[in-house]
Amino acid sequence: MTDLKSIVDSVYHDLSDRIGEGKLADYIPELATVDPRQFGIALVTTDGKLYSAGDAATAFSIQSISKVFTLTLALGKIGDGLWKRVGREPSGNSFNSIVQLEQEKGKPRNPFINAGAIAVADVVLAGHVPKEAIGEIVQFIRQLADDDTIAIDHNVARSETNTGYRNVALANFMRSFGNLNHPAEHVLGVYFHHCAVAMSCHQLAHAGLYLASAGRNPLSGGSVVSPSRARRINALMLMCGHYDGSGDFAYRVGLPGKSGVGGGILAIAPGKASIAVWSPGLNENGNSQLGSAALELLAQRTGWSVFGQ
Ligand code: GLU
Repeated sequence: MTDLKSIVDSVYHDLSDRIGEGKLADYIPELATVDPRQFGIALVTTDGKLYSAGDAATAFSIQSISKVFTLTLALGKIGDGLWKRVGREPSGNSFNSIVQLEQEKGKPRNPFINAGAIAVADVVLAGHVPKEAIGEIVQFIRQLADDDTIAIDHNVARSETNTGYRNVALANFMRSFGNLNHPAEHVLGVYFHHCAVAMSCHQLAHAGLYLASAGRNPLSGGSVVSPSRARRINALMLMCGHYDGSGDFAYRVGLPGKSGVGGGILAIAPGKASIAVWSPGLNENGNSQLGSAALELLAQRTGWSVFGQ
């Protein structure tokens, strides 16, 4: 039997002399103030056992990992209708690229690049004022993690609201093609705030469990999404969860995963576990450098790659 405790401990131990590697995401000024010398791992199995190491209880800005949760909510609202507004193909471009939006008439390539997630935020916003939509997203994440203390870091939200010029451009560009139904500033209000949710690796691994257990939360027994929807969200995470580094992540790790520029990654081993890693330093694709290395070792040592040993 796999001894998960020694695997998690050994991965942390083997990488601990690299803590601090990578570059902070300084284009959001508040993220540049984070201490880069932090590294956490939390793994929750589908039968509810938790294994963790390092700074796994420290909250960090989940940034784009939140896009997994907003996608789940938007699919719950409009189902496959979402795919008229957003594609399902890897972008091969950086997370904030505008290039393909022009070529593809305002339809973003997938829900995990910024443009795609902004369109998803527009769907979640329908029938609400921005504050209510933000509340609904936070409530959903709290429910998934079974933790009412999870909250938005308002300094991060403000920092991105003040400097997110590229996202303002993406939103207006999509609106010009008729792919946003609400004013760009309302949609971006929702987007910037869900990116600014702060969670620890423990909380994040717990929140991702439904994707590891065919759409059910194995701890509460409740159904979050159908098994086929969980499978499809995992497929999107595998193909598109690491921007233009998605192919490399699939090659090295072989698990569905979603990264965020706060340095977190949520990875799913279907049927086995939900895993969250965090270290703020990023590689050249905007993915956590140490987090990616940790997941690579973990996948090797557990044999959990979806492509086999
Ligand atoms: N809020 C960030 C942005 O829009 C998210 C990017 C990321 O985590 O990859 O730039």
